[in-house]
Amino acid sequence: MFAFGTHQKSEVLRPVNLDEALQWRRAYSGDAVYISGGTLLRAQWENESAFMPPQLIDLRGIAGMSGIEEREGAIHIGAQTILAACRQHPLLQQYAPALMEAVRGIAAPSIRNLATIGGNVVSATGDCLPALLVYGADLVWYDETGMFTEPLLEWLRIRGSGMMTSERILTAVRIPIRAQQSESKPIHFYQKVGRREAFTPSVATISVYAAVGKDGVLSDVRIAGGGGATFAHRLTAAEKLCEGARLGDAALPPAVFKAVMNQFQAFGDAFASAEYRVKTAANLAASAVWTNGKSR
Ligand SMILES: Cc1cc2nc3c(=O)[nH]c(=O)nc-3n(C[C@H](O)[C@H](O)[C@H](O)COP(=O)(O)OP(=O)(O)OC[C@H]3O[C@@H](n4cnc5c(N)ncnc54)[C@H](O)[C@@H]3O)c2cc1C
Repeated sequence: MFAFGTHQKSEVLRPVNLDEALQWRRAYSGDAVYISGGTLLRAQWENESAFMPPQLIDLRGIAGMSGIEEREGAIHIGAQTILAACRQHPLLQQYAPALMEAVRGIAAPSIRNLATIGGNVVSATGDCLPALLVYGADLVWYDETGMFTEPLLEWLRIRGSGMMTSERILTAVRIPIRAQQSESKPIHFYQKVGRREAFTPSVATISVYAAVGKDGVLSDVRIAGGGGATFAHRLTAAEKLCEGARLGDAALPPAVFKAVMNQFQAFGDAFASAEYRVKTAANLAASAVWTNGKSR
């Protein structure tokens, strides 16, 4: 039986491989819930936004789902990798510093030592998601058909439509490694605005990746936003404006602000209205363009 709060004792099942985890999930016909670090789930049980299930399937004992390495042209991050490990890693430093910045702003060290990147992604509202979107990340899943890879963007679209089953297990997040063009420099940007300086849920987050040519012209521009209960999404109108534009053009930041105002989707809650979140996101995106233009 499901119950609110954390007073009830759940049975913890500890599969040693992915098949066993799937079998248990099926055996309990959906009453069992996958758990990794448990930081989000526990918070949800405590604030009664989710039921504590009778069975928990602890994924941490499954081998091969942790660690960060270069594999087949991508940075392969096992889903069980704790956020503390993603906060500082040479591969992320070189190719995905915006993800490290996103992780830096999540909770506090005690939480980051338990919380996993997999749990952050599957929550669909985790602060890592905008950074992963601008790097074109893929998700590696396991279900009864076996292992398969799906673009994060596509998964978010399906998840947003409410048509997702929760049987599948996230095994890894992959960030394609881009060959660096010698004549251009990359911009990596991530900023989170919360209700206070640190240890705070996000009001809005913006991440940007772009290449800047020697002439200051932007290419391969990706802008994504999220925060609060907002599912992370690409801000395609602002991307289009920036593509081919010259960084430092005074007209660009206000145009980006307007485009994000028109496209950013947000939900209001007791702490911040939807309008406030949209305006915050628009300001962040405009400031990303302005500060990078100013420093040229
Ligand atoms: C005090 C506090 C502050 C926080 N601050 C932030 C913050 O600033 N930003 C932020 O983004 N988050 C924040 N969180 C939420 C949470 O810590 C993170 O999202 C974390 O990364 C979740 O990871 P986890 O391993 O603990 O997930 P869990 O709690 O174990 O699971 C989260 C969800 O993912 C599912 N799941 C987990 N792993 C898998 C998998 N491999 N395959 C399929 N499904 C899976 C679970 O069933 C569950 O639905 C905070 C939490 C707390 C308690």
